[in-house]
Amino acid sequence: MPSSSDSARVAVIGGGPAGLMAAETLIGRGLQVDLYDSMPSVGRKFLMAGKGGMNITHSEPLDPFLSRYGARRVRIAPLLDVFGPDALRAWLQGLGIETFVGSSGRVFPTDMKAAPMLRAWLHRLREAGVRFHMRHKWTGWATDPGDGGPAAHRLRFTTPDGDHTVPSDAVVFALGGASWPRLGSDAAWVPLMTARDVPVTPLRPANCGFDVDWSPYLRERFAGQPVKPVAISLTDVDNKVHNRQGEILLTETGVEGNLIYALSAMIRERIAADGEVTIALDLVPGLTQERVVAEVTRPRGSRSMSSHLHGRLGIGGIKLALLHEILPQEAFADAHRLAQAIKALPLRLTRARPVAEAISTAGGIAFDALDAHLMIEQLPGVFCAGEMLDWEAPTGGYLLTACFASGLVAGRGAAAFLDARKRRGAST
Ligand SMILES: Cc1cc2nc3c(=O)[nH]c(=O)nc-3n(C[C@H](O)[C@H](O)[C@H](O)COP(=O)(O)OP(=O)(O)OC[C@H]3O[C@@H](n4cnc5c(N)ncnc54)[C@H](O)[C@@H]3O)c2cc1C
Repeated sequence: MPSSSDSARVAVIGGGPAGLMAAETLIGRGLQVDLYDSMPSVGRKFLMAGKGGMNITHSEPLDPFLSRYGARRVRIAPLLDVFGPDALRAWLQGLGIETFVGSSGRVFPTDMKAAPMLRAWLHRLREAGVRFHMRHKWTGWATDPGDGGPAAHRLRFTTPDGDHTVPSDAVVFALGGASWPRLGSDAAWVPLMTARDVPVTPLRPANCGFDVDWSPYLRERFAGQPVKPVAISLTDVDNKVHNRQGEILLTETGVEGNLIYALSAMIRERIAADGEVTIALDLVPGLTQERVVAEVTRPRGSRSMSSHLHGRLGIGGIKLALLHEILPQEAFADAHRLAQAIKALPLRLTRARPVAEAISTAGGIAFDALDAHLMIEQLPGVFCAGEMLDWEAPTGGYLLTACFASGLVAGRGAAAFLDARKRRGAST
């Protein structure tokens, strides 16, 4: 429904899920919305996220859902109160996209794809009047005095046709984090924000892989192979032990995969605190320690220990290679030591992979600098949303859910800001 601030112009900068949601919210309030993105088309990371199956949100109850945001739970909860996982699924349905809950509880569109959803959404936004300006890279604020309103809203863009300054009544930034910069979010906004004294927590890799000092043999023979099932035991910086089961992937440089991603924030913080971290791999998570000891110590006749392990415990291939990689040869002659290692194989992780390779980014604009509507308090009329804010979450749909929700909250905030300004103007 058009509001009293009909003629106000709002710039949304960044056309990922957060920016598009902000644009949709603003156009719905009768404002003029111009969306700028540095890339030739919007939603590139969103499309990439949909490559292996578009996991848009999760079906678990709200309390465990919110726990995925860790220390930022209190900041994300009010956003999800406004637009949580159920609202997101209903909104998708309105877009003509049905969803289903997978066996893991994750929620996907029925066709698993991101592209049809993005197409339908962009069509709806264009029809509603959102104007898209591609290949417009925001490069800061114009400092020269002009007639474009307060300095906070004179936005500078670099385009193929040269540099432009665009006046705007309010701005929503949704510029993303620093992962996969070739898809557009290259974190070039960080120095632009810090130059305006906006506090930005350093960007760090989240949902990322970690380096392991593999031997050339292991790297050449096993890189690219999954280890499954496997469980990881990890002690976090607060000395709390975490155990989780799943699948990891050996890479040329170390390890990655869903189980590593799920623990990546804790692993990263331990490495930051101690320089490295040793996790324990349980190669047979379905079996008790006693059972493993019993099987390993069972008489094996003339069989080699390797074929004994394969026959009794199903340990062969990459799991056996990991035992050989990490244990000294003499450990294979000591059944008790070997059994212990099978249940808790120490693996030393030395470094997180660079943020450019990570699925998402930790760090960003500090929530303390924002009001409840995600406006930067010291820059009235400037709002922020999505992954550029200082929060992180594991994969599982939690990232996109919070991006959509924050885009909507920032969009509503900008509309309310302009409304209030207009009311003030009318009453003076
Ligand atoms: C491989 C991969 C798989 C993923 N899988 C999942 C998943 O299954 N589930 C899930 O929830 N999440 C997943 N994610 C994460 C999810 O895609 C992101 O969290 C989400 O896209 C972030 O949305 P955003 O709108 O904040 O930023 P982005 O989607 O990064 O969009 C930011 C936009 O801003 C533009 N931009 C940046 N700087 C400028 C500038 N200076 N001027 C103009 N424009 C600019 C960029 O071009 C980009 O279009 C995945 C990510 C990756 C890389």
